[in-house]
Amino acid sequence: MYHSIAATGNSLNVPIEQFEEEISYLKSHHYYFLSPHEAYAVLKTNKKPRKNIVWITLDDGYKNNFDALKNLYKNYHAKATVFDIINGQNGASFLSTYQLKHLKNSHIAIQNHTFHHMDLDKMTEQKQSSEMITGKDNLDTLLHQNTIAVAYPAGHYNQFTPRLAAKSGHKLAVTTNEGLAHKDTGLLSLNRVRVNKGISLEEFGQIIING
Ligand SMILES: [Zn+2]
Repeated sequence: MYHSIAATGNSLNVPIEQFEEEISYLKSHHYYFLSPHEAYAVLKTNKKPRKNIVWITLDDGYKNNFDALKNLYKNYHAKATVFDIINGQNGASFLSTYQLKHLKNSHIAIQNHTFHHMDLDKMTEQKQSSEMITGKDNLDTLLHQNTIAVAYPAGHYNQFTPRLAAKSGHKLAVTTNEGLAHKDTGLLSLNRVRVNKGISLEEFGQIIING
């Protein structure tokens, strides 16, 4: 899990040089880069397209993701998924509609990070559903797709959220709980591995394998 791809800011921000080194590391270690649909198939069937697999995700849809991702497939044959804050498309720091469409045409999946990016665990069930459905509907219309994955804002969710995510049309949901994604946690509350700024490639290789 990545967020902003930038040199400045907090530890969640990873500089583009680090990001590219990590993608290059995965490529040289023969990782297969999953799309959301492929991730779903792997989690559902336990059948992997290759021994080493990875699902690269970037949360929030920061504008700087565009430069990091627009040639990712061309340069590394790598796919990635942006979990986009749908209401963010009007903000200067976030990916524009044009950029989202461009990325989608460059093997970058755009999935749901809800409409407003508010903590779902503090909301009524109805409000949670509305945040997830409005996000999905907007993306489905904008990108002519069936959005299947949602990332819970700030990783916050409660006992109702996974069921509501499924009911609103999602097959996968990711949290910020640390660890490898596995169907035992439930497909609608998947773990992720956080990549922090400044970690070595050796550490990166370890967390990708061990969580
Ligand atoms: Zn977020």
